[in-house]
Amino acid sequence: MSNLTDQQVTQIASQLAAKMQSGNVAVSTTGGGVFETIDQAVTAATAAYKQLGSLPLEIRDAIISAIRESMRNNAELLARLAINETGLGRYEHKVQKNLLVTNKTEGTEALKPRADSGDRGLTLVEYAPYGVIGSITPVTNPTSTIICNSIGMIAAGNAVVFNVHPGAKDCSMETIRLINQASTDAGGPANIVTAVGAPTIKSAGELMRHPGIRLLVVTGGAGVVKAAMQSGKRAICAGPGNPPVVVDETADLEVAASGIVNGASFDNNIICVDEKEVFVVDSVADELIRLMKTCGAYQPDVSDQRKIENTIFDGDHMNKDMIGKDANYILSSAGVTAPDCQLIILDVPADHPLVALEQMMPVLPIVRVPNCDKAIELSLDAEHGFGHSAGMYSRNIDALSKMARAINASIFVKNGCHIAGLGAGGEGFSSFTIASPTGEGLTGPISFSRERRCIMVDHFRIV
Ligand code: NAD
Repeated sequence: MSNLTDQQVTQIASQLAAKMQSGNVAVSTTGGGVFETIDQAVTAATAAYKQLGSLPLEIRDAIISAIRESMRNNAELLARLAINETGLGRYEHKVQKNLLVTNKTEGTEALKPRADSGDRGLTLVEYAPYGVIGSITPVTNPTSTIICNSIGMIAAGNAVVFNVHPGAKDCSMETIRLINQASTDAGGPANIVTAVGAPTIKSAGELMRHPGIRLLVVTGGAGVVKAAMQSGKRAICAGPGNPPVVVDETADLEVAASGIVNGASFDNNIICVDEKEVFVVDSVADELIRLMKTCGAYQPDVSDQRKIENTIFDGDHMNKDMIGKDANYILSSAGVTAPDCQLIILDVPADHPLVALEQMMPVLPIVRVPNCDKAIELSLDAEHGFGHSAGMYSRNIDALSKMARAINASIFVKNGCHIAGLGAGGEGFSSFTIASPTGEGLTGPISFSRERRCIMVDHFRIV
């Protein structure tokens, strides 16, 4: 977690102002991998891909190292740019997300060749690049998704054309420029990642149809997943989630309370894996809620709950103006006076609309259930079969196994924050493109590779 002093924040703000003034983060500016049209961006990335293929692996490793170093150095600047532009989430969590993918996205080390040897010789299986990948990225994790995709895709020997979310184009273009700078500084190609400076849904469609794009990788909601799957190209699709959390009567309630408050408020709940609804066994519900209040959660009374509901909903949907906002902002917008808090919790029935909707704001519904089986059953309904992420707090291994099997999700976290499933406070590599609809799960260099086999018949077995 970044703990910036006031002086450091001022320093970043003036660095940012200088960049803005120099035009370095202006959308209209091209150069550094940023182009006016998809066709130009694909052409440049194709040249970079060919150049990358002609360079030794040592240079590919040096490029990845240089990208990691640059992204570490610029994690705070890119977080500030993202928050200023999108107005979503929390600065310190965006820094943490940038650093997480920078440090924990897998590089070339993931691409271990395989060999089979026997009486008929030797077969070698290696991971080869696709070529130029078209990647479509979300507004919720703009810089971190680009960093993560770039490291994993370049490690596998590809170049990338991004069509980023229009609401995050400036911070995304700056990330792309910095990645190209790191590549050329390390002796790699220019335009190893490219983008259109003014992306639209139309340009996303052009990217999906462009003959120079061999693989599509999309990270976003149901609409973009559907479009990619209909494109006729191979597509890796990371779609929406609505992760439930179950707390049963055997759980360590202190661990559960702090884990849920920290997870559900992380970046104001805009990450797809963040905890979105809780099902707690009735006998421990009051104690869980009491403990959550000691960890930064605020529970309104019934009349204030109505005011909050009127503020966060817009008809059948969430109110866009409240998405990604701080809990204190939502409370004051609702006209509710409350102490400083990081999460609002609402004690609701299972059919409350907040349970089924992906709220993407730090307002968490808590549903009381008679027993663990009912909690698991309602979790499956709330997750809508996305197979994305879920969690459970329990010390009953039978119950944990039952939920793990039943929820059938790409990420299932036991007794911890859901971001542990992204490698933050948990083991394993990180990824911000979690492909549940197409089955890759947490994507990395292997997801962005083609398998190729080379066979020597009757020779080269050495024993
Ligand atoms: P979004 O679907 O609105 O936009 C995502 C990207 O897709 C943007 O670049 C957008 O311009 C593009 N897009 C949207 N509709 C399109 C279409 N019909 N054709 C072509 N391109 C299209 O999502 P968002 O608001 O940026 O992000 C939030 C959503 O993404 C949530 O549902 C969240 O769960 C999901 N998400 C999933 C993952 C994951 O790894 N599974 C990661 C981050 C976000």
